[in-house]
Amino acid sequence: MSEKPRRVLLKLSGEVFGGGTLGLDIDVLNLIASQIHDAVTEGVQVACVVGGGNFFRGAELSSRGFDRARADYMGMLGTVINALALQDAIEQAGTRTRVQTAITMGQVAEPYIPLRAIRHMEKGRVVVFGAGAGMPYFSTDTVSAQRALETNCDELLVGKSGVDGVYTADPKFDPNAEKLDYVTYHDALAKGLKVVDATAFSLCMDNGLNMRVFGMSEPGNVARALRGDTIGTLVSA
Ligand code: UDP
Repeated sequence: MSEKPRRVLLKLSGEVFGGGTLGLDIDVLNLIASQIHDAVTEGVQVACVVGGGNFFRGAELSSRGFDRARADYMGMLGTVINALALQDAIEQAGTRTRVQTAITMGQVAEPYIPLRAIRHMEKGRVVVFGAGAGMPYFSTDTVSAQRALETNCDELLVGKSGVDGVYTADPKFDPNAEKLDYVTYHDALAKGLKVVDATAFSLCMDNGLNMRVFGMSEPGNVARALRGDTIGTLVSA
């Protein structure tokens, strides 16, 4: 019998898409897309959850007077723009791609249907999940853990733009911060290591899903992570 193919969920934050600023950096998008295409060509089944921080973050808008729920919906719509951009880039690289959104918008994307998403992946299509959970007060980190669980992914891969893994403290502010090759969810939560939010960590911990946090700036790292190379930091129960 043939070996079960590796299936992974790649979480890309909006920061990655914007190349550090507002909007989209097309060159960065194409670099990510070509690596996803390479991994799919090698037989890896790939789903992506995209963030929206390069457009709007609900909490930031709300701190400036916006209604929180409305601001969160703006944030979710930003993730859909990123999802469509990623779809285009992956298709141009040569791999069929479907976008599924948690807020129904029939003209631009399929609704979120987990069994259909699995079927797409089995057929070698990439599935990009947009609009988060479709609910205010949630983050795309939490959604990536949930989607990975519901579509039976083997691992959750979290691509970061500023760091190459999980550190003992924020390396931007603490020169003594050390990179960890491995950390448990329990320790990450107890020590308040802020790589993804606490809800995402605990969802993975409670359901035994491994997470690999890696840096996006090293060329080829997305493909390495998708293939299962031991880069960055492994977080597990
Ligand atoms: N958001 C939400 N519900 C969700 C997912 C996202 O309300 O299920 C909103 C929230 O306002 C968030 C914004 O969408 O700030 C963008 O998502 P996120 O901050 O997770 O993106 P990232 O930081 O990964 O770029």
